[in-house]
Amino acid sequence: MILALAGGVGGARLANGLVAVLPDDQLTIVVNTGDDSEHLGLSISPDLDTVCYTLAGINNLDQGWGIANESWSLMGAIERLGGDTWFRLGDQDVATHLMRTMMLRDAPLSAVTSFIAGRLGINHRIVPMSDDPVRSMIETDQGVLAFQDYFVRHPAEPRFLSIRLEGVECAKPSPALLDGLENPDLQAVIICPSNPVLSITPILAVGGVRERLMASSAPVVAVSPFIDGRAVKGPAAKIMIELGRATTTEGVIEYYDGLLDGILVHSEESRGLTAEGVAVWSCNTLMASDADQQRLARESLAFASSLR
Ligand code: GDP
Ligand code: CA
Repeated sequence: MILALAGGVGGARLANGLVAVLPDDQLTIVVNTGDDSEHLGLSISPDLDTVCYTLAGINNLDQGWGIANESWSLMGAIERLGGDTWFRLGDQDVATHLMRTMMLRDAPLSAVTSFIAGRLGINHRIVPMSDDPVRSMIETDQGVLAFQDYFVRHPAEPRFLSIRLEGVECAKPSPALLDGLENPDLQAVIICPSNPVLSITPILAVGGVRERLMASSAPVVAVSPFIDGRAVKGPAAKIMIELGRATTTEGVIEYYDGLLDGILVHSEESRGLTAEGVAVWSCNTLMASDADQQRLARESLAFASSLR
């Protein structure tokens, strides 16, 4: 079986390719929940929703988050009542948050997520990194900001100093993640081209995840989110640079600090083995279409299997 680690948009794109090429019992998609928050009394899990909406084919392509063909009546009514409107929630999207909030009273996030994914017609396993709450807090030159405050309210403008993961000391991996990590049939771990700092670091920080991946005989392969040193979308490059890191093949390898056996990078860069002994594979990593997503999924699986 294959474990894929994912954040939101970049993660969802490769995950969408992986579900097209792998049977549903051969893949577990593990999603970051460090971005989760409570807003207007609702439990919001942005990365889980982005992955679910993308795999269900109902994601909003123009916005890059939320559901396609949304209406915004609720936001208008909230504004009339003087509520916060900087964090925008579409009407259909709110249905997901209402269901999740209600169901979380009696069930862990893993069960709630699998129920929602099932109702959206998804057969593959999508699981949170943990059922315990972890909240990414961003230390910036303007003080400590809760994740959505940093990412949405101040669209990643303050200078990024570090990420603090509240609750991570007590967080256990979700049962399906633990199962994957301990599965003797684990064939490969694919780190999707998600934001390494905001989306992948929280997953690796959950109790024992990084250590188990380091110890695993399955190859760990990352797809770089950078093309020609730039992020395809979002602040990943800005954050890496603010951390004094490079948005290159070496920069990503160093950021993951000994975890990677291989890395897939965009075609202009070279193939071979780096000084650190990490295998480099190059191909077109831009996923503009479903066909691109499936091609990159196949390519990552073939690359990982060549490292076994
Ligand atoms: P977020 O939670 O929505 O910010 O999404 P992720 O962390 O999963 O993904 C953000 C990253 O995805 C950005 O750094 C982008 O560069 C990367 N990304 C998005 N689309 C693509 C793509 O088609 N190819 C590659 N290589 N990276 C992508
Ligand atoms: Ca996210």
